[in-house]
Amino acid sequence: MAGTGKFFVGGNWKCNGTKDSIAKLVGDLNGAKLEDDVEIIVAPPFVYISQVKDTLTAPIQISAQNSWSGKGGAFTGEISAEQLKDTGCEWVILGHSERRHVIGETNEFIGKKAAYALSQNLKVIACVGEKLEEREAGKTFNVCFEQLKAFADAVPSWDNIVIAYEPVWAIGTGKVATPLQAQEVHAVIRGWMGKNVSSEAAKAVRIIYGGSVNGANCEELAKKEDIDGFLVGGASLKGPEFATICNSVT
Ligand code: PGA
Repeated sequence: MAGTGKFFVGGNWKCNGTKDSIAKLVGDLNGAKLEDDVEIIVAPPFVYISQVKDTLTAPIQISAQNSWSGKGGAFTGEISAEQLKDTGCEWVILGHSERRHVIGETNEFIGKKAAYALSQNLKVIACVGEKLEEREAGKTFNVCFEQLKAFADAVPSWDNIVIAYEPVWAIGTGKVATPLQAQEVHAVIRGWMGKNVSSEAAKAVRIIYGGSVNGANCEELAKKEDIDGFLVGGASLKGPEFATICNSVT
């Protein structure tokens, strides 16, 4: 743990769940024993946010998985930051690789969303990470720097941002980055922050890792100095396993 604040674990439920399965998951989380010195969020699909808000009693905050880039209005299918605040969200995940590479969101668009979300007092989990071919071509750092720069160009402050390093080749593939691979990129990201934002922001920002984190590999990853938490997809759909990951804080 290097950043300021608590170890941070997010559960990204993606486009999964039904009213019943989410009731069961929330029940499991409510019954779980969670460490005090960890900050935990879950990100349900939009349509279940109110259900989770109304039934979650565990000390867990709620995040959205996306938000619109400005004030609401005639934007069919979009959800505004104001609406997310209204339903009880405190966080939003932006720049997730599935939104970048499946939906086609650009760096600039994601930066705009981050700035707007922050202006509405939503905190932001800003995701960056390289594809397999980019890693193999030795472009990992440059891809992360470009994605970070788009956030840095758009936002007035990094106080309410957590950076998630999520190598695309590790997401949902079962192919987790080794603790050394993750630590290397996290340290480089922190260095970039120091050079391009400020030394204060570099010291304070939490950098979390995402990509096939599970109950079995979380402890080794959590020991690394610059790994300040996790963003968890698949394993966050299982309450007891997610609790194990939350409690891997060292
Ligand atoms: P995964 O997803 O844990 O299923 O690899 C991580 C993420 O996409 O945030």
